Amino acid sequence: MAINVKNNQNLVDQLIEWDQKHFLHPTSSVRAHQQNGPEHIFMEGNGVRVKDIYGNEYIDGLSALWNVNLGYGRTDLGEAAKKQMETLPFSSSFNNYSNEQAIKLAHKISKLAPGDLNVSFFTSGGSESNESVFKIIRHYWKLKGQEKRTKIISLGRAYHGVTMGASSATGMDTFRTFSTAHSPDFIQAMPYLTDCEKGKKNDLNFEHSIRGIIEREGEDKIAAVILEPIQGAGGVNVPPGGYLQAVRDLCNEYGIFMIADEVICGFGRTGKMFGVENWNVVPDFMTVAKGITSGYIPLGAVIMKDSFRDELASLTDNILFHGFTYSGHPTSCAVALKTLEVLENENIISHVKDMEAVVLERFETLKNRHFNVTNDRCVGLLGAFDVLKDPSSNTRFAPEQNAAMVVARGCNKRGLIVRPVMYKGANSVVFAPPLVANKSDINEAMNIFSEALKEFEKKVK
Ligand code: PMP
Repeated sequence: MAINVKNNQNLVDQLIEWDQKHFLHPTSSVRAHQQNGPEHIFMEGNGVRVKDIYGNEYIDGLSALWNVNLGYGRTDLGEAAKKQMETLPFSSSFNNYSNEQAIKLAHKISKLAPGDLNVSFFTSGGSESNESVFKIIRHYWKLKGQEKRTKIISLGRAYHGVTMGASSATGMDTFRTFSTAHSPDFIQAMPYLTDCEKGKKNDLNFEHSIRGIIEREGEDKIAAVILEPIQGAGGVNVPPGGYLQAVRDLCNEYGIFMIADEVICGFGRTGKMFGVENWNVVPDFMTVAKGITSGYIPLGAVIMKDSFRDELASLTDNILFHGFTYSGHPTSCAVALKTLEVLENENIISHVKDMEAVVLERFETLKNRHFNVTNDRCVGLLGAFDVLKDPSSNTRFAPEQNAAMVVARGCNKRGLIVRPVMYKGANSVVFAPPLVANKSDINEAMNIFSEALKEFEKKVK
């Protein structure tokens, strides 16, 4: 129950004061926080909706951080956690110690993942998963006597997390250049140069393509290529049809590992179990997090081929000196198992595919009604549209107009949480509600979009 503010004004004031005094928020303006306090204090959630401390209700059009995929208030996930916490809350996976839930989850993932991606290394989240895959791959190349194979190629506008390696792989320079001296040996390629990746060298951008970089740096220096099947934080950027396959072929050609960062796309978000399945591509590694527990508890994983693990075993009898205290956390794994059970038992993924059609239809209506809306896209329940000053001539709004932010704020005050992405002058508004969102939730959200856009049009006229 959200608290009754009238009777609890003191508590509200206290929380706001403590928040400002003691809580440094991730990915937030420190100054705005010190001036204005927290944007929202959320107290409870149910289905696709959350309630703030004042009792205001919002449709969560971003599933918190694209992770609360099964929606709020599920007692089955809570019960799975409770049961495991009361039985064996934690147990280490170091030194080949194991626990029932981690074993069952690794087995379950091997059944769900495409191809022979049958082995999981567990982490606590997306950044740790990407950090781990980079280190494990470099370790492998070292064992193979190819120590110079260190370079990781990622894509411009990619988001792979905030730890040293993961932020160095991140293509959004707001994140990559936040701190000084990021990790060496990370190189960003221009996204979606399909023809270049297939070998067309007379393209003006060839030198910025993955293939161009491999040729420039030398194939024997490249450890892996990492990419999101669909870029999330960078603005929901969907690759053109043959792109992922072209990258797969390129990696095969040069014997370089292909990593799919499935942290957002994995576990049903795109209407398939994994994002790569939209293009029938099987990478050498997948990194996952977020939706694996529907955000109810932290967990991530690196999923690799059993042939890779077998080679590691044959190359050394040394210890794999990499692991987190919470690798294989039994409680997290128990919640993940329940999440995956619900995904299957409730046919969530086919529901997501049905809802994709509803979103696309309503995006079309938004486009027809609102001059500034364009480039709408939605795969599963991973959607976005752009706002442009003049879509016909591709004219952008001035950056200081914060167009996407104005639209998102208009939605927010009407009870819909969405994410604005403003990057290098582009303005996108992301819509990625919990996978359990139904037609009426989506229609309600779209009506709010429409109202917010109307207000936006008046402002920018
Ligand atoms: N990869 C992708 C594609 C992500 O979207 C994110 C988080 N938004 C991460 C990695 C990092 O995950 P985490 O925040 O759990 O470290």
